[in-house]
Amino acid sequence: MGYQKPKGTADILPGEVEKWQYVETVARKVFKRYDIHEVRTPMFEHIEVITRGVGDTTDIVTKEMYDFQDKGGRHITLRPENTAPLVRSYVENKLFGPEHQNPFKAFYIGPMFRYERAQFGRFRQFHQIGIEMIGSANPAIDVEGILSALDFYRELGVTHTKLVINSLGTRECRMEYRQALIDYLEPQFDELSGDSQRRLHTNPLRVLDSKDEKDKVIVENAPSILDYLDEYSAKFFEEVKELLDAVDVDYVVDHRMVRGLDYYNHTVFEIMSNAPGYNGKITTICAGGRYDGLVKEFEGPDSHDAAFGYALGLERAIISMEAEGVALPTTPGVDVYVVGLGEKTNIETLKLIQKVREAGYTAERDYSNRKAKAQFKTASKLNAKVALTIGDDELEREVVRMKNMDTGVEEEVKLSDLYADFKGIVGENIPKNCKCKNKK
Ligand code: ATP
Ligand code: MG
Repeated sequence: MGYQKPKGTADILPGEVEKWQYVETVARKVFKRYDIHEVRTPMFEHIEVITRGVGDTTDIVTKEMYDFQDKGGRHITLRPENTAPLVRSYVENKLFGPEHQNPFKAFYIGPMFRYERAQFGRFRQFHQIGIEMIGSANPAIDVEGILSALDFYRELGVTHTKLVINSLGTRECRMEYRQALIDYLEPQFDELSGDSQRRLHTNPLRVLDSKDEKDKVIVENAPSILDYLDEYSAKFFEEVKELLDAVDVDYVVDHRMVRGLDYYNHTVFEIMSNAPGYNGKITTICAGGRYDGLVKEFEGPDSHDAAFGYALGLERAIISMEAEGVALPTTPGVDVYVVGLGEKTNIETLKLIQKVREAGYTAERDYSNRKAKAQFKTASKLNAKVALTIGDDELEREVVRMKNMDTGVEEEVKLSDLYADFKGIVGENIPKNCKCKNKK
């Protein structure tokens, strides 16, 4: 049955792509307010960037990587996420130097690749919008980061959101907690799901994150990481909460929330959606946290080692908008339709339509010599404000018929007049805001 796209990928077609462009525009607008600038890293990286950055006991690294040997024998992977690549780039380009923004604030928008079980809201090529703020240990950075994500959803009109936060403390407190968690889970080993049994000794914190119903019951009474925070970590978490309170942000603390990536410490957060379109399920639409230590892991300077970031799913942002009934842009129509009648008008039709485009308007025409009625039907379908008709007779007399599609009024215009002052003559009939009708 012909060629098909790989499983877990999507063709984003006209009608759909306008939604993506809109979401991306909103993200850019919001990040600008925060002085966060775009960075574009390669779609593929040396595998070590990911294994070292993300951690080699994570699902991403153990199961989900699209990696391969290139023709030069290098071990390459398509990027599964953008934090490790961005930190690699930060260090490689010495963005910690005095001439650079500090903390360095970057955002990215682009495809990520994970070999996952494809299902609703989960793809193998998916798209993330994310930020990284590198070089500051001020908890205000954590809070501003979270605020930028909340602003983004608010601008989109997504309101069924819930902010959940937790602290993972420092590596040292996490090690202590890790042991306590293993001690708690081991006696119940036989009851755990296969995945959790495997994770118990490699990455026990991930058991807390299990989606298995039985696991969920078991972790219900697991010890809390918050009881294992050292003084600095506890104080840091208090400050984050205090700052969130200061700007009136609602949140809940969930001590069982951990992140799937190894690099996180201190603050972690998720924004969940309980919008109706997710079939009553609560879905994570944005996730991130602090990752002090990663810059050093990439041999960057101690002085710029503190960092915070998050990633949010673009597909899931659109699903949320649709679930909440937010109006989304679709394919816009055209301003002008050029109706060329008869094969002899082909040249003049081309000249005319190019004139329309030069004047800054959107224009479409017929390419298959259809009858006037069929062409006008298309013009209406495209919501054209003006139709310019040229047939053999008009060609001979060097005129066109200009019809205002809203009022139905038609008049004859000299081609030479039209070419001399296109905007003045045709522009009259095109409402100024018409190109913006799909913008919010
Ligand atoms: P999960 O536990 O659901 O697999 P994760 O921990 O792998 O999530 P992150 O790597 O933190 O997720 O990604 C951040 C966000 O990116 C997610 O909240 C989600 O919106 C989006 N995302 C992650 N993986 C996918 C995917 N395969 N398809 C679509 N969106 C995704
Ligand atoms: Mg995942």
